[in-house]
Amino acid sequence: MQPFEFSRPADLAQAIAAAHAPDARPIAGGTELLNLMREGIYHPQRIFDLNGLGELARIDVKPDGLAIGALARLSDIAIHEAVVRDFPAITQALLESASPQIRNMATIGGNLMQRTRCGYFRNGDIDAKCNKRATGSGCAAVDAGQVRDFAIFGASEACIATHPSDVAVALAALDARVHLRSAAAARTVPVVDFIRLPGTTPERDTDLRDDELIVAVEVPAAAAASSSVFLKLRDRASYEFALLSASAALTLDHGRISTARLALGGLAHRPWRFTGVEQALTGIAPDDAQIGTIIANELGKVPARPGSEIKLELAARLALRAVRAAAGLV
Ligand code: SF4
Repeated sequence: MQPFEFSRPADLAQAIAAAHAPDARPIAGGTELLNLMREGIYHPQRIFDLNGLGELARIDVKPDGLAIGALARLSDIAIHEAVVRDFPAITQALLESASPQIRNMATIGGNLMQRTRCGYFRNGDIDAKCNKRATGSGCAAVDAGQVRDFAIFGASEACIATHPSDVAVALAALDARVHLRSAAAARTVPVVDFIRLPGTTPERDTDLRDDELIVAVEVPAAAAASSSVFLKLRDRASYEFALLSASAALTLDHGRISTARLALGGLAHRPWRFTGVEQALTGIAPDDAQIGTIIANELGKVPARPGSEIKLELAARLALRAVRAAAGLV
């Protein structure tokens, strides 16, 4: 590990100024930054510690929703009374996402800034091409025809990685927004747009600019949110990154779906909202066969890459289970 300057900003203004410095990285829980440094992906010259900014660790319940400070620990969010009651998908996603030890350290801001678990990206010992790790070097995953742990939606020839966050999938289904601050301005970006598609610049995972910090995640109040669910498919029952995940939120009116939201993880470089499914579900009775057909039709719109059929089939089944659960049918 190479030497770096370390600082502890006393307030948000100092933290934003620290973010503006060249080659600077913020640290809070450290559960991702330290991994990336150990893996030789980051070699920051400066690290600034956000843990003194207590105001960014708050979880505030407001009439129009939830304001989760960027430094709120995953464990605190998961058990917060209002989250458990009004946004259960968030609790379910957090409890599935990491061990208690990690949840006690990791923050919601850091969770959204996680980088892909693609082995070619993470393992610096192998002589692999990776555009995310070394811009312009190519993509070993594309060359190898990888499918199982890789993106089917929104991928590019430059990168087919998926985003590893579970809670981002729940937040996407709940229309959550990320609040960002720089010295010059504040702005708000939906979670589904904050995490970028790779396109021709896969080295950029998010919409965060060099001089910005995440200050909060806002989850709007909604009737559908209280019925929201999060489901995860993974290779082993203990803590493991998702092969696929799904989050759904519904409202019913006189036995028919009046609002539907559905997001899937593990299928794209970011949580993937299925707005076509949401529109098609609206107005129908929650009938398994009809829901299954709607989901299958939507998933069938992407050209299937060789080997992707089983993953799409699993995604369809998981999405159906999530919608059924959100409708109270299981
Ligand atoms: Fe790198 Fe993305 Fe290709 Fe993985 S899929 S090797 S992260 S460019």
